[in-house]
Amino acid sequence: MKIHEYQAKALFKTYDIPVPEGGVAQTPAEAKAIAQALESRPIVVKAQIHAGGRGKGGGVKLADTPEAAEGLAGAMIGMTLVTPQTGPEGKQVRRVLVEQGLRIAKELYVGLLPDRKTASVVLMASEAGGMDIEAVAVQTPDKIIRIAIDPLIGIQPFHCRQVAFGLNLPPAVMKPFVPTLLKLYRLFVDKDCSLVEINPLVVTASDALIALDAKITFDDNALFRHKDILQYRDADEEDPLDVEASRYDLNYINMDGNVGNMVNGAGLAMATMDLIKRAGAEPANFLDVGGGASAEKVENGFKIILRDKKVKGIFINIFGGILRCDELAKGVVQAAKRTEITVPVVVRMEGTNVEEGRRILAQSGLNLITARDLEDAAQKVAKIVG
Ligand code: GDP
Ligand code: MN
Repeated sequence: MKIHEYQAKALFKTYDIPVPEGGVAQTPAEAKAIAQALESRPIVVKAQIHAGGRGKGGGVKLADTPEAAEGLAGAMIGMTLVTPQTGPEGKQVRRVLVEQGLRIAKELYVGLLPDRKTASVVLMASEAGGMDIEAVAVQTPDKIIRIAIDPLIGIQPFHCRQVAFGLNLPPAVMKPFVPTLLKLYRLFVDKDCSLVEINPLVVTASDALIALDAKITFDDNALFRHKDILQYRDADEEDPLDVEASRYDLNYINMDGNVGNMVNGAGLAMATMDLIKRAGAEPANFLDVGGGASAEKVENGFKIILRDKKVKGIFINIFGGILRCDELAKGVVQAAKRTEITVPVVVRMEGTNVEEGRRILAQSGLNLITARDLEDAAQKVAKIVG
């Protein structure tokens, strides 16, 4: 799960990691009020979306007066912001963060993320932080320091000093740098993050260290033990079909192709996607309704696929084990009654109560295409979508 910069900064604050003064606004008037309470000028107005690259896309702007900040907020709120990370369709801005501007002496990059290959937490840092860090990583990778931290031992002050020397930090900055990294690591572990990134971590003209930006991603599988983090969820930022699917407890991932598919069991779902590809088509989604799905769950899954406008054909592939074929058939028929089926549906089903399932589907009056086996089903659906 991703969160907004202003939320990540609120979390930083609870770990005593320094962030600029400021607040979040949903209206220009709120932005002005926050700006008026700030002591220093300039004022920074930052679009809050779940994507980076805002500086390059016009989502980070400076103002000299609260009135000017109000004007910037008015222009940003409601706009569709396109950045190098949003894709061409952009993201709608619903809030802005209004902050005190900083006098920047240096922009550093600091990030923590798990590395599966070495089963460690990787600490990455660079003295070439800021908006061009991606280019730095590609063109001059030696400017990025990587240190593997054994999660059983955790971060040690010597790790931090090693990074600090690598970044050529002056002694005055070294002092706050070490505890900042230690706190950042603690947050990363405490909250089961899959990414914590500060870009830029700013060295100010007076040698203070402040997190000018903040990005945190959480491991979804650990969210059950972080009720406090769940409050940060912003469904507006997520794919509406993904949000709906998670409400029904369906294992769903939206993809680019046009064959919608509904399968029970993640392994069968992966195999089904391979088959679709081998038949020359592309899957529109991954959807595992689960081994013990009910008719209701099947119905919800089917409805989600039908709402996906890019879907030109549907492949239902069920192996009736715990989920019985008659239960699946009932779900499909229920969904069809409540939603108009606008695309051809190919069904392949085998296993427990398959005869009863076939009978329900045959008597439903629905125009379903039945398949002999997996290969046949994949061929049929690929032919339908062309
Ligand atoms: P991102 O582009 O989405 O990663 O947004 P950032 O929060 O990283 O801001 C992008 C850039 O805007 C930073 O790298 C800074 O160069 C600039 N910027 C942001 N806030 C300030 C500020 O308070 N003062 C100054 N001088 N520049 C800022
Ligand atoms: Mn940034």
